[in-house]
Amino acid sequence: MIDFKRVVGRTKYHDPTKNFELVEVNSEKRYDPLTGKMVRVFPFRKITFSRHDWTPFVEESRQRFCPFCPGVIEKAAPRFPEDFIPGGRLRVGEAVLIPNLHPYENHSAVVVMAPDHYLSMQDIRPDVIRDSIEVGLEYLRVVAEKDPANSRYSSINWNYMPYAGGSLIHPHLQVISGSDPCNLDGDVVASAARYFERHGRQYWEDLIGAEKGGERDLGSTGRIHWLVTFAPLALGDVTAVIRGCSTIRDVTHEHVEELAGGLKKIIGYYDSANIPAFNMAMYFTGGEDRGFCCTVRVVGRFTLFPLVGSDVSNIQILHHDPWTLCLPEDMAGDLRKHFA
Ligand SMILES: [Zn+2]
Repeated sequence: MIDFKRVVGRTKYHDPTKNFELVEVNSEKRYDPLTGKMVRVFPFRKITFSRHDWTPFVEESRQRFCPFCPGVIEKAAPRFPEDFIPGGRLRVGEAVLIPNLHPYENHSAVVVMAPDHYLSMQDIRPDVIRDSIEVGLEYLRVVAEKDPANSRYSSINWNYMPYAGGSLIHPHLQVISGSDPCNLDGDVVASAARYFERHGRQYWEDLIGAEKGGERDLGSTGRIHWLVTFAPLALGDVTAVIRGCSTIRDVTHEHVEELAGGLKKIIGYYDSANIPAFNMAMYFTGGEDRGFCCTVRVVGRFTLFPLVGSDVSNIQILHHDPWTLCLPEDMAGDLRKHFA
């Protein structure tokens, strides 16, 4: 049922590192088993990154204005209208949810995850992740109640540090909700509905069955199943399947607690592999889309020399081909140690 399609290409050249011996080098294209979308895997196999030191960037950012720091957020951050969210902001633990000053959806919020201006990967605690996702879900529940037309497609997102597109060092999430899905989300939703129609089963249940015990399987933490993604969108791509959930109403405190624990393990792996940044997205539908299941996707982000170098190139921007440097199966071996 699940087609793990990969096409290996071979290129010949005279290799200067091997005395110009004629060598054959592999490249690989993989096709997402759900959407059919192609991604590229470069033939680096194992790659090692040097340790990235965020200290100078963090110190510089402390000298600049940070709207999320204690003492400033009260005065500098926007508030929701009283009839939408009484008091203007939502709080769970130390996490505070405020409107996004620069909205890019009908409903667009930011979660300031903690009072700390900087949290290193080691310092990101599971309870910080848990409370931040909880307050994001609380906001999405308000949106669903007060503006159902704009609550069908929503997501909770994280750009950790500037290499991942984070515009501020201060840890924060972005929560969006609208009437239409994002591009990738729309493909996933439509493909999952087609799969359900054709097979009478949810794609992700079949995926977990096909991956179980295999080289990309990280196992289950209870209600959530963790897989290294076969057709990765970027480096170190992990998919968490929140089984039995498709809407925000299905996601319980227990799910969020478990999710936060698993994300901490992935962040621990990135840290150990010197991957200095990451993106996360947690996807929801309104429940009308048959065959959909909530998933969370996390990818590592990095820079190569020079330090300002981007890991996004013409291939993603102008050709829409995601690529990664490493074979997912190679990374899975190291990731599994963190899930053991
Ligand atoms: Zn700050």
